Amino acid sequence: MLTPARVAEIADRLAAARAAHTPVSRNLTCADAALDDAYSVQFALLAQARSRAGGLRGFKVGTTSTEAMRRVGVDEPLLGFLEHGDAVPDGGVVDLRALIAPRIEMELAFVTGPELSSPGCDARAALAATDYVTPALEIIDSRYVSGPFDVVAAVADNMSTARHVLGGDRLDPRAEDLSAVSAMMEKNGAEIARGAGSAVLGDPANSLAWLVRTLARFGLALPAGSVVLTGGFADAVPAVNGDRFVARFTPGGTVACTFSSFASERTA
Ligand code: MG
Repeated sequence: MLTPARVAEIADRLAAARAAHTPVSRNLTCADAALDDAYSVQFALLAQARSRAGGLRGFKVGTTSTEAMRRVGVDEPLLGFLEHGDAVPDGGVVDLRALIAPRIEMELAFVTGPELSSPGCDARAALAATDYVTPALEIIDSRYVSGPFDVVAAVADNMSTARHVLGGDRLDPRAEDLSAVSAMMEKNGAEIARGAGSAVLGDPANSLAWLVRTLARFGLALPAGSVVLTGGFADAVPAVNGDRFVARFTPGGTVACTFSSFASERTA
C-alpha cells in the first residue's frame, strides 16, 4: 500500500515525464503497490487535469480483448482519462516531438448525454445514455523507459493515454449492432490492422457499462457529455515520422491522422 505522500510523488514524476516527453525509470512504482494504489496515482493526475484549462474530456477503457487481458494477467479491463488538450482534429497532425514512442489503435468513441453514476450500469443503460458513437483513433505513449511492465505501472501512468482523434461521422448506437461493426486501419495506404466490435468485451457498449460501474466503485461519476474510448478493435501499432493512418469503419465512416516530427500539432 502506497502512502499518500508516495502517491503524490509518483503522480508528479509521471506528470513531469509526460510534460518533458522524457521517460522515467520502470522502478518508479513500488513492488508492493496494488492496482488500487495505481488508481490512486491516476486519480491524483486526474485531479490535476480537472484543474487545467480545457480540463477533463472523458475516459478510455483499455485491455478490452480476451487476448489482451490474458497477456497482462487481468480478468477485467483497465481505465484511464482523456483531456480536451489531447484532442487532435480528424485528418490532423500528431506532433512526435511531444511524444516518446507512440502507438496507435482504432476504436469506437461514445459521446454520452447526462451524468452517469450507477454501480449497476449494464449495456442497455449505457446505450440509452449515449448521444452518438463515432470512429476514433487512440494514440498511446508510455511514460516509462521501454514501456509499462505491469498493469500497476500502466494504470498509474493513466494507461499510457496521450492523444485521441474523433471522426466526423455519427452512428446511432440504438440503430446499429455495435458488435458487428468492422474496421480496417491503413498505414501509408496499406492495411495494417483489422477487427470488429465483438473484440471489445463482446460489444463496445459493455465497455461503457463497465466504465460507469467501475467509476462508481471509486466514488466517481461519468460527467455529462463525456467522450469515452471503448477499446481497440485490434492491437496498437507503432507510429513514426511521416506515417499516415486511416481507419475505415463499416458502418461508421473514417478517421485519420498523420505523425510528424516537424509540423506543428493540431493542424487539420
Ligand atoms: Mg484504446
